[in-house]
This record gives sequence, structure tokens and C-alpha cells, in this order.
Amino acid sequence: MIERNSGFANLSAGYLFPEVAKRRRAYQEAHPDAKIISLGIGNTTEPLTPHIAKAMADYAASLGTKEGYSGYGDEQGLSELRGKIAEVLYPGMAGADEVFVSDGAKCDIARIQTLFGRNVPVAVQDPAYPVYVDGSVIVGAAGKSCASGYEGITYLPCTAENSFFPDLSEVKPGTLIYFCSPNNPTGSASTREQLAELVAFARKNGCLIIFDAAYAAFIRNPKLPRTIYEIPGARSCAIEINSFSKLAGFTGVRLGWSIVPSEIQFADGTPVRQDWNRVMTTLFNGACNIAQRGGLAALDPEGIRETTSLVDYYLENAKLMQAALCGSNFAAAGVQVYYTGDSPYLWVKFPGWKSWDIFDYILDKCRVVTTPGSGFGPAGESYVRFSSFGHREDVQEACGRLSALSLERS
Ligand SMILES: *Cc1c(COP(=O)(O)O)cnc(C)c1O
Repeated sequence: MIERNSGFANLSAGYLFPEVAKRRRAYQEAHPDAKIISLGIGNTTEPLTPHIAKAMADYAASLGTKEGYSGYGDEQGLSELRGKIAEVLYPGMAGADEVFVSDGAKCDIARIQTLFGRNVPVAVQDPAYPVYVDGSVIVGAAGKSCASGYEGITYLPCTAENSFFPDLSEVKPGTLIYFCSPNNPTGSASTREQLAELVAFARKNGCLIIFDAAYAAFIRNPKLPRTIYEIPGARSCAIEINSFSKLAGFTGVRLGWSIVPSEIQFADGTPVRQDWNRVMTTLFNGACNIAQRGGLAALDPEGIRETTSLVDYYLENAKLMQAALCGSNFAAAGVQVYYTGDSPYLWVKFPGWKSWDIFDYILDKCRVVTTPGSGFGPAGESYVRFSSFGHREDVQEACGRLSALSLERS
């Protein structure tokens, strides 16, 4: 028979979300009348905004006419959209020919791994969004699994003790560093000084940063950088991956982009952008043309107004949750809420608890689903992630239940 890609055999089962769903189902079966509220998902819940939805609907209708029809477009994306992303989001920081439009950030993170051989060492923040590690395992770059995770991967703990910014001294020269800010799951948004340290380290040690900025639109503190290219020197050592998913509610529409500056080179002098262009034109066939019209509309002044208030809605949900989780019942149990107002996620530490125990406890007592922090990496143990993606009335009801929760374990 055909040989299996050994990367798949090395892959540890993706337990987190299936296990969350399983426990939720079991609870519902045991309590058929319980109204369970999910504060667990990283999926958007509110409708597309009118200006953007209309642009897509109008374009979809025009595809049904002889004049309006179009087939394949450029694999790198509509040149108008590439230009607009560069102009609106990266003024003076990146050019249109460095923007590659795609079907989403997760897909780009997966595809980008084909650029690097199996021998390139990888470093990730711990905890982290799972595709950085799992994608590396599939392409064979992570080595064998071991007690701490995978042999070929350096895990960089990001905890309250280090203000969620890792000690980079563990990272070997020539490493591919995945870095996500604002972070999923910790919600931490790195400061300019922290990102400057990251960029300086990468430049000094010949590392390449894959900077996942999927939550950049949630940054409200004007002092925080919204793109890695606000840091001088980043153009020679960082690729940015971004998406309309969280920015405009495009999780189902599917549209993202990557920025690969022309300066970045491999050790042999080949521009990385040249190979990325090859990957995008060979393994990808262009983002949906309807979605791209939505992306153009999202970057209009009207679209920007709309998406800003869409994101504000989730940020207000987060504030309500923060108030509930800072209540006297939680404070008395020593619970620490980490939230700065620049992300949709609250990262909450329950000292003395295991993540899955607090997950079960909150499900049982409040009928609220969260996400256990340990599922994102060992440094997430004893934390739980609360997501602000949800309808306001559900969030309010969940907050009421949480405020009444007693954390005294009998
Ligand atoms: C949601 C999310 C993405 C976005 O993925 P898409 O494929 O564009 O929907 C990327 N990175 C992180 C960390 C995310 O949480």
C-alpha cells in the first residue's frame, strides 16, 4: 500500500475543540432543559455590515450578466484590492506588489510552511493558536513528539509572570518564529518596545518572524502597533499574515492577505517573495471574486466606520465579561483576569485549578462554555479563555450567571 506521510503519524490528536463539544453535548443530554451559552468560540456571531454585504450582493448579481461575468482572476488578488490594502493599512510600510490576497489567514499559515525545509527550526509562543505547531508537524518540520511537545519546536512560555512576552534567548539562530499579537488565546497585545525587541532579535540571529495580526482591528490603545511594520527593521525579517475574518466578520466569507516585503531573503539570497509568489500561483488559484469586492468595500471610509463599530460591539461584550469576572466572588478565590481592552479574548487564571476542572465547574454551575487554556499549550494550564464573540443578550445572561457563581469547592 501507499506510504503514509510520517508527519500525520506524529500529529497528536486535536483534542481541544472536539473535547469541548463532547463535554457540552454530554451536559446537554443530562440536562435537556438547560440553556447553555457559549463564551468558548473564536467565531464571529454578528451579521455582515450593510455597505459590505451590499457590495458583495451587487457583485454576485452582476456575475449573472454577460457584461459583469468574470472567471479566474490573478492568483495574488485583484490589483485594486492589493493596492487598497497597502494604501489603507500599510501606508509607507508596504507596497501593492508585496500584498498577496488569499482565502484566509489559517490557509496562508498552512501554505507558508511549504516555503521552508524540514530542517528549519520552529519557535512558537506557548500557549498558541494550534495551526503553527500542527502545520509544522504535517510538513515534517517539528520532529518527533516528546514530553514537552515536539523535539523540533521551541516553546516560548507566555504567562502573567513575563507579561505574556517570551524570553527569546532560548531561540536558536535561523529559526522561524510564529508570533501572534493581539494574541489568541491570551488576548495580550505586544507593546512597541516588545515588538522592537522581537525584531532586533530576529535580525541579529537570522530568524524569520511569521507575524499573525488577525486581531489587529481590536487594538484600541493608540500606543500599540497595529502591524509589525511599524517597527523599523521589520521589513527585512517579518512576514505578516492577516484576515478580514475578525475585522469584518468574514469567517464564513473567507478572505485574508499576507505581506511579504521584497527585502526578505533566504540564506542563498533568493527573495522570499519570489518563492511565495510561486506558492500562491501554483498551490492556490485566487480568492473568491465576490469576497474580494467585500474586502474592497470594507476598506472604504463607510466600510471602516461599519467594521469599527462591529468590532466595538465585541469589545463592549468583553468589558461586560471583565466586570463580571472581576466580581467579589472571583476576587475572593484569587482569580486573575488578564484583559487590556485590545482583543476579543479574556485570559483568566484560576490559581489551584486545572483548566479542564474549571471548564467543567463553570459548565456545571453556570451552563456557560469556555475554552480550557491548557488546550493551547502547557503554559495555558490553570487558565481559561473567555471569548467575547456572542450576541449581547447571551453575554449579559452569562455574566449574570457568572456573577452569582460561588467558587468555594466542597
Ligand atoms: C481566527 C484566527 C485567524 C483567522 O483565520 P482565517 O483563516 O482568516 O479565518 C488567524 N489567526 C488566529 C490566531 C486566529 O485566531
